[in-house]
Amino acid sequence: MNNVYTQRRANVRNLLSESMNTIIPSTKFKVMTVHKLWDISCLRKFFWHRVMNFSPKGINFNFWYGGVFHVGFQAVLLGKTWPAIKVAIRKESKKRLKGHSLTVDEQQEIAVQFDLICVFVKASMDHPATAKMEMIEAEKFVNYSIKAVPGVKYCGSMDGDGFYDGEPCTFEIKTATQITASYFKALDVDQQVHSYALGMRKQGKPRDKCCYLVFRKTQKRIKKGQTPDDFVAEIKKDVAARPNFYFGGDESKVSFPYVLPLGKHTINDAGNNIEAGAWLLNQIYSNLSERSLLLPQNWVANTRQCFNYGRCPYFQLCHNLKRWELYTRFYKQREMLYTKEETELQNAK
Ligand code: SF4
Repeated sequence: MNNVYTQRRANVRNLLSESMNTIIPSTKFKVMTVHKLWDISCLRKFFWHRVMNFSPKGINFNFWYGGVFHVGFQAVLLGKTWPAIKVAIRKESKKRLKGHSLTVDEQQEIAVQFDLICVFVKASMDHPATAKMEMIEAEKFVNYSIKAVPGVKYCGSMDGDGFYDGEPCTFEIKTATQITASYFKALDVDQQVHSYALGMRKQGKPRDKCCYLVFRKTQKRIKKGQTPDDFVAEIKKDVAARPNFYFGGDESKVSFPYVLPLGKHTINDAGNNIEAGAWLLNQIYSNLSERSLLLPQNWVANTRQCFNYGRCPYFQLCHNLKRWELYTRFYKQREMLYTKEETELQNAK
């Protein structure tokens, strides 16, 4: 009996060392992003995601779809040909699937969704508004120093910078299943696009409008007896028949692109929020020892957020807080988006 327990303990120890060795926590605060600002609404989530750097190992179909779609439409706005766009889409999909072992069902779902992305991106090339848009730089990086916390930088990466109807603008590309009037209303105070605009202003390239491009994801599913090819053909027909439904607009106010004015005051408000968020985070980092910083119990959990947009990816960690280490095998290291983020990692120089 004792042997069984000894073996189990050894297995758990191996499991822990295996998963913990591959994930390096960020114990310094050097980079502020709008995503960190959002994660502050549940500080426990901030801890799992931004301090422990846990990212779920399982494939997130929404992230995959959004990321691959982005690259496809960016390529359209960069003026690439359809064969080159398809190559870019395929490359991005491959990159995002790397390291995931998919079940047969998941592989089939990915194949169908891949074809649908191609249908939408190809159709977007024929939309009359697309001809008025020109992207000069995709994934435009912006950064500036945070005044409230010396040594900390704000970093952001816009989907693109360029022109709409001959006027300079930023670009933001989104995919969504629900697009309502309030979706667009919320953009008036959106911290992401306005903080990017602040970054551009600080870099001497002020922009007073953002081309916000929202693409509706179909909620239709393959019917019983329908082949994947027939399903894709059905959606292709539907996109041709109802382009306004799929491209950007809500039913009451069709608009593609949605041209969002980037007002001076809202840009300043976004900047103040970033400053306030950075100050708050710095208080935590500076007042906790490294040991305390790495304890989830020291980060306030906002359980009202657990099921806000589906189940929080960290729910099993919070729900099993006494033995959370056992669940780390379901997570991998979060991808560092900015070079400077490397300096936040534990033991970084
Ligand atoms: S499960 Fe709930 S409390 Fe835990 S990190 Fe997610 S949102 Fe926060």
